[in-house]
Amino acid sequence: METVREYYLDYNATTPVDPGVLKEMTRFFSLQFHNPSSFYRKAGEANQALEAARNQVSQLIHADAGDIYFTSGGTESDNLAVLGAVRKYGKKGHIITSQIEHPAVLNACKYLEKNGYEVTYLPVSPVGLVNSEDLKKSIKDSTILVSIMHANNEIGTIQPLRQLIEIAHQRGVLFHSDAVQTVGRIPVDVKGLDIDMLSFSGHKIYGPKGVGVLYKKKRVKIEPLVFGGGHEQGVRAGTENVPGIVGIGKAAQMAAAGMAQTEAKIRPLRDRLQKKILETIPEVLINGDTPERLFNTLNVSIKYIEGEAILAFLDQEGLALSSGSACSSKSLDPSHVLLAIGLKHEDAHGSLRISLGKFNEPEDVDKLIEVLPPVVERLRSMSPFWRK
Ligand SMILES: *Cc1c(COP(=O)(O)O)cnc(C)c1O
Repeated sequence: METVREYYLDYNATTPVDPGVLKEMTRFFSLQFHNPSSFYRKAGEANQALEAARNQVSQLIHADAGDIYFTSGGTESDNLAVLGAVRKYGKKGHIITSQIEHPAVLNACKYLEKNGYEVTYLPVSPVGLVNSEDLKKSIKDSTILVSIMHANNEIGTIQPLRQLIEIAHQRGVLFHSDAVQTVGRIPVDVKGLDIDMLSFSGHKIYGPKGVGVLYKKKRVKIEPLVFGGGHEQGVRAGTENVPGIVGIGKAAQMAAAGMAQTEAKIRPLRDRLQKKILETIPEVLINGDTPERLFNTLNVSIKYIEGEAILAFLDQEGLALSSGSACSSKSLDPSHVLLAIGLKHEDAHGSLRISLGKFNEPEDVDKLIEVLPPVVERLRSMSPFWRK
């Protein structure tokens, strides 16, 4: 069978494990398989590897190592923050989030709503920004927690977290952020932000899947989701995923060292791609077009055609990207994020998410620039909505 070269443009969905990360992980599957909680010397070494990873991760976000809790990923960290805090502090209180959160936060909030809690879903501007006045007005005496993501996975908009956190803290309300798309990509400083809880994930930063982090200030208490032995200071039971944790530690260290270099390489590629798409394809919209946008992300609506149809043609050429978000692309509902920024249903249906990463080269972008315009032209020629 002929193999098609892959052009991977979907780094917001997941990233390959960096070879340097994999190299660190390997021996913890075999030679150093021991349970970190056990007594003997080898177990002590596994435990030391865990703590070394905790240090590496804490340095990436400027945290104390003791405030890092390892989980099974971004989704669990988000659930642990939202459900854990609410169950600790609230007897049927009020939670504030945004309309453009990842399903890991959104669906945890919907579950709480079904169970007697009140939830406010803040709207966003046409570029996807939460308005700080809206947040201020929505806080009540019963508000327990605000959870607003740092950068959006579909359109890349980066929220003014410092400002939003300050507003919550003026009213004594806890603040959590899903920072899966920012940690490792742009500087994140939990102490500078004075944030109470923050989530991120291994597989979005060239680490392995199935491992994540919840940062939590010491004085913030949460209920566990998983009960068992007293691992992770009683916050998250279960024998630690030692290879995964070693992996996210190494990935964090590499991200801290290479962040500026990756941005310098990738931002011009994204900008060139955006410029070329605007030049070569009529009637497209750039979603989340604000200076407060992740340097790797480009979300475009191509009017009069379906994103899924475009993806099918691009896939034949080896181009891997998303329409809307990977998590919702199995359903035919338009992306909740694109609807929240005010797109019409039909324009949301024609959206593509291109997200670049550190292994992309100019030829990846060139390939899309070459292939996309004729695909769009062909699909539009078959579309009843496209007037030639
Ligand atoms: C990928 C992602 C998650 C989920 O992380 P997993 O480790 O895949 O569970 C949560 N939030 C955002 C913004 C994401 O991009």
